[in-house]
Amino acid sequence: MIAQTDTIVAVSTPPGRSGIGVIRVSGPGSLSILRQLVAYESFNPQPNLLTLRTLIDPMTSETLDQALVCYFKAPHSFTGEDVIELHCHGSPILLRAIVDAALQLDARMADPGEFSLRAVANGRLNLTEAEAIRDLIDAHTDAALRQATRQMSGEVSDRLQPVKDQLLQIIVRLETSLEFVEDDLPSVEHDHVLASLGSLRSDLEKLANTFSRGKLLRDGIRVVLIGRPNVGKSSIFNRLLGHGRAIVTDIPGTTRDTITESIGVDGVPLVLTDTAGLRTASDQIESIGVDRTKREAADSDLLVVVLDGSEPLTEEDRSVLSEVAGRRHVIAVNKCDLPTFSGSTIDHGSAASQDPGSVVSVSAVTEEGLQDLRSAILKPFMNGNQAVEGLLITNARHHDLLLRTMDAIISSAALLQNRASEELILVGLHNALRYLGEITGETTSDEILGKIFSTFCIGK
Ligand code: GDP
Repeated sequence: MIAQTDTIVAVSTPPGRSGIGVIRVSGPGSLSILRQLVAYESFNPQPNLLTLRTLIDPMTSETLDQALVCYFKAPHSFTGEDVIELHCHGSPILLRAIVDAALQLDARMADPGEFSLRAVANGRLNLTEAEAIRDLIDAHTDAALRQATRQMSGEVSDRLQPVKDQLLQIIVRLETSLEFVEDDLPSVEHDHVLASLGSLRSDLEKLANTFSRGKLLRDGIRVVLIGRPNVGKSSIFNRLLGHGRAIVTDIPGTTRDTITESIGVDGVPLVLTDTAGLRTASDQIESIGVDRTKREAADSDLLVVVLDGSEPLTEEDRSVLSEVAGRRHVIAVNKCDLPTFSGSTIDHGSAASQDPGSVVSVSAVTEEGLQDLRSAILKPFMNGNQAVEGLLITNARHHDLLLRTMDAIISSAALLQNRASEELILVGLHNALRYLGEITGETTSDEILGKIFSTFCIGK
């Protein structure tokens, strides 16, 4: 893994003004930088203890801030190196000035995720734990947060360890038979190894199958509301959100652009988009809105077609319904609070939809049917009774490597079944072990590590 010998600095809190802003420095030069920033050559801070100090610009001796400073002595720090943290006042200009001062003192700007990369390189975290910290920061719902917390404490690697151990035992057994036995594996042993490979495969399969649910928790479902103007898309959007984000008027064409917000429904993040009504545009702005609606609709995981149940179905409604045919969708027949609300719109909706369960009557005014709408949106993604609890694979990289491990085990098992040579069988098993190691970082190449950590934020 990439050797780290220099000292890096970054602001670890988000950009913008705030009560405090934290700057992190990691590497062999950290303590010397701290001493120069506090203008105290022999400053010998007690590790892990915050102390109040005046920070100066070492070039001009000008006072920069009063800050709480903390020294974490290697190897007992997040990165495993000497680390200092400066808890300053949260002014972006001030933080920039302090970072500049550290840069003058021979630190360099940290790359995205470089603190975490160093933590992995120094054995303070394994790769899945570092990735879980990123997911924890990015979590949009409580359930996603809980999964990230579990993975941060090493659950993925703990779950994989017995698989690796078992695989290693099989490899050792086959290697030994290669070295010492002229003949093939004895039949009892042959069957035993075959059964062990079968159980390893099914164990990995169970774990890999949690990904469909885990992916939902992490990425969310992209849901787009479409329909002709004035059917109540923005009203439903606001109701689902729980606050008035989109403008609601009875003037058709008010929502001229798309608006996207994230919400959690039963712990699953929904990335919800309200769109301009789908109709023949009367001006250029509306026309751009309609084009954007079409693009959003094309990128969605599910479309919610909104109809106005208090009016007969119009040509525009029919054209929207024909556009969603063959796409995953739910039909929300809105305004069921009105006396003119008619079941015939629902019947039309049912006729247009392959799944009658996906037609829901709602009222954005009284909120009637809103819970049914939420359930109908989630239903297509809840295949089987996948529980939210339990360890889930949430990361596509882990899922891909689990599948590759399974493939390698399956092909080795087939070779074993056909009494192929141990050498051939071992190639697949060694690959399987390497793939598992790539999940936790032991056998991940520097290039892949670089790619993974570039998706982290600066200062993490
Ligand atoms: P959009 O153009 O499809 O986004 O429709 P809006 O959400 O802007 O709503 C158009 C009009 O219908 C507004 O006057 C809303 O107050 C009204 N409206 C929306 N939903 C309902 C509903 O469920 N019941 C009733 N009675 N009126 C609604």
